[in-house]
Amino acid sequence: MRGKVVVVGGGIAGLWTALSFRKASPIVVAPKSDDEANTYWAQGGIAAALSPHDSPLLHYEDTLRAGGGFNDRKAALVLTHYGPMVVNKLMQMGFRFNEHPHLEGGHSTPRVWNVGDETGRVLLRFLRRKAEGRVEWRPGWVVSLLKEGDRVVGVRLADGSEIEADAVVLATGGYAALWERTTNPPNTLGRGLLMAAMAGAYLTDLEFVQFHPTVSLTTPPVLLTEALRGAGARLVNESGKDVVNPLLPRDIVARAVYNYRRRHGEVFLDLSRVDMDRFPVARRLYERFGERIPVSPAAHYSIGGVRTDVWGRTNVRGLWAVGECSATGAHGANRLASNSLLEGLVFGYRVALDVEEDVSQWPEFKFLREMSVEVSEGDEDIGALRGIMERYVGVERDAKGLREALNLLEGTGGIGNLARSIVEAALWREESRGVHYRRDHPSPSPEFSGRLGVRFRTIM
Ligand SMILES: Cc1cc2nc3c(=O)[nH]c(=O)nc-3n(C[C@H](O)[C@H](O)[C@H](O)COP(=O)(O)OP(=O)(O)OC[C@H]3O[C@@H](n4cnc5c(N)ncnc54)[C@H](O)[C@@H]3O)c2cc1C
Repeated sequence: MRGKVVVVGGGIAGLWTALSFRKASPIVVAPKSDDEANTYWAQGGIAAALSPHDSPLLHYEDTLRAGGGFNDRKAALVLTHYGPMVVNKLMQMGFRFNEHPHLEGGHSTPRVWNVGDETGRVLLRFLRRKAEGRVEWRPGWVVSLLKEGDRVVGVRLADGSEIEADAVVLATGGYAALWERTTNPPNTLGRGLLMAAMAGAYLTDLEFVQFHPTVSLTTPPVLLTEALRGAGARLVNESGKDVVNPLLPRDIVARAVYNYRRRHGEVFLDLSRVDMDRFPVARRLYERFGERIPVSPAAHYSIGGVRTDVWGRTNVRGLWAVGECSATGAHGANRLASNSLLEGLVFGYRVALDVEEDVSQWPEFKFLREMSVEVSEGDEDIGALRGIMERYVGVERDAKGLREALNLLEGTGGIGNLARSIVEAALWREESRGVHYRRDHPSPSPEFSGRLGVRFRTIM
């Protein structure tokens, strides 16, 4: 049993990890406002094989199909088979889902447990209530990890204070707000990945960023959940003609919408066949703009992250990562819809067990190739960075654009180091696989069937 534990992050992954400890009393460090977490904005729900006609094996097979077989099979197996257990645990704690699960793209049966399209907000508030009195919450922002030799031994906060710990769990969320058009809150910049890499952790799968196909072209942009398409919404052009089968996996739908808009014109999500009472968020848009909402893709989910094993262990002793900031490999090259809230629950539970009981061995990771990215000390300019990522590292990429992005990012410090790593990874992967689409290499290549491990190299 380890002594003091710090969990960084107050979304589903951080809170569920903190609530899953049996003996230790972890300190959660995160801002108090809940809408900074992606969890708050999650809509469709949590995928889990709970229905009598469903099975974890079927869920596993759907996860592999969506992930293009690039999945770490052990991680996908753990995700889907622990799914019913953790969702049951959530319900035993008093959380109530709507009676019927949604059907979402890529799932062979309805299995997305939801509270309409407000699942994340209701769930986060529930978890925060459960954490009151059980978990010590330190409002704040972590800026770096403390190290002693090869171990992480605590965290440093923005106010200069430090918390020493025997175990640090990063649950800091993804990096999709590095793009201009994004569904994520603006602070979702991958700061946790940056801290982990600075402490010597491997990052992987950075080139795999999922773009959500149906984000409204309104101000502000609103994500129109996949479940709407499961409930009958269509993707149509100006004259009402179907543009693409709306239930295909997200990457295919996103590229179809992106290319239709580039070549022909606007694409609309047609809600005329949907029972809007089931979707309060979408209904608000429907009431303002009518049954056809103009949409385009936006950066949505970071598949890449800090490389971990199925217990959330990174390659740095004392450091675990869980949720969207981690990369267990469970999602492969494309995340199956609604598998990410589930990931927070499943791996959060396992991280707590591992930290507390010391059940697994410290892992060594093997990659198809390792790359070290030189850390730059310069300044970061988030606005400029976002423009570069949007223009050159979007739904479709090519070598020319990615090289241009690297030129433009040269010398940028801070989160620019993470942006450069993402571009380097996308440039290295000369193939198209899942959500990573290279215009100049439109097919998968057996040469790239493994992962790229990225580490930071600091110049003395
Ligand atoms: C609009 C939208 C809809 C979605 N719909 C679904 C869905 O229906 N189903 C599904 O499965 N997934 C959905 N997702 C994805 C899902 O919400 C996320 O993958 C998941 O919530 C990530 O949880 P997390 O705990 O890992 O990260 P987050 O919820 O993003 O939480 C990260 C936490 O870390 C804190 N933090 C970050 N850096 C620091 C730092 N340096 N110091 C201190 N604190 C820090 C943040 O403030 C936040 O509290 C959706 C996402 C969005 C944006």
